[in-house]
Amino acid sequence: MSVETLSVGDLLFEVRRSSRRRTLGLTVDRSGELKVYAPEATPREYLEKWVEGRLVWVHQKLAIKEPSRPPLPSMEYASGDAIYYLGRSYRVRFVADQAEPVQCRVGWLELRQTDRAAARTLIREWFQGTGGAWIKERVTLLSDRYGLAPSAVEVLDLGNRWGSCSTSGRLNFNWRLLQFPIRLIDYVIIHELVHLVAPHHGDDYWRRLEALIPDYADRKAQLLESTREYDRV
Ligand SMILES: [Zn+2]
Repeated sequence: MSVETLSVGDLLFEVRRSSRRRTLGLTVDRSGELKVYAPEATPREYLEKWVEGRLVWVHQKLAIKEPSRPPLPSMEYASGDAIYYLGRSYRVRFVADQAEPVQCRVGWLELRQTDRAAARTLIREWFQGTGGAWIKERVTLLSDRYGLAPSAVEVLDLGNRWGSCSTSGRLNFNWRLLQFPIRLIDYVIIHELVHLVAPHHGDDYWRRLEALIPDYADRKAQLLESTREYDRV
């Protein structure tokens, strides 16, 4: 089944169409998931404009939810817990001692036995450090390929957003993006790169994006699906 999504202001909305609906509606649910309800035949451009007019409201809703973001299910990792990095699954393993706080081996993310209580923080730092360096290299590769150069790149906690592009040409990426397969990370990177030349999601924006990634709609839908499946870090 295909999922229709709408990306507005770097937020991803799931679009639910129904022949019985007469008006547009928008919800932000408890986990921060965004849904737009629309009559069957509403054109996408119209939907996008309508949602754009409500972005402030959506951001306010998300900001309220932010402080109460999921108290992470269990604060401690146990041996054998799965963690996804670049779309591959790794299992957590505690070892007697090692040179680095977190070491990534084939199939395993290893931590020191004595760091057990701090595992979540250490893994997050590893994602941001090692993974962040990877994203920056990836951005360089893609920006060279497409001739779209950002003024700076940061990898940080962006809450519910995967990426953003400032008016000064600075790109920010959410470290949680690193859970996903490279194909989806590339989508977010290229999505933000295109904003360097087309700040808003107009026809021109989507044309440019499609020229670089012809299957962007498919990736966008997959990103939405993965957002549900992989939120485990
Ligand atoms: Zn965007």
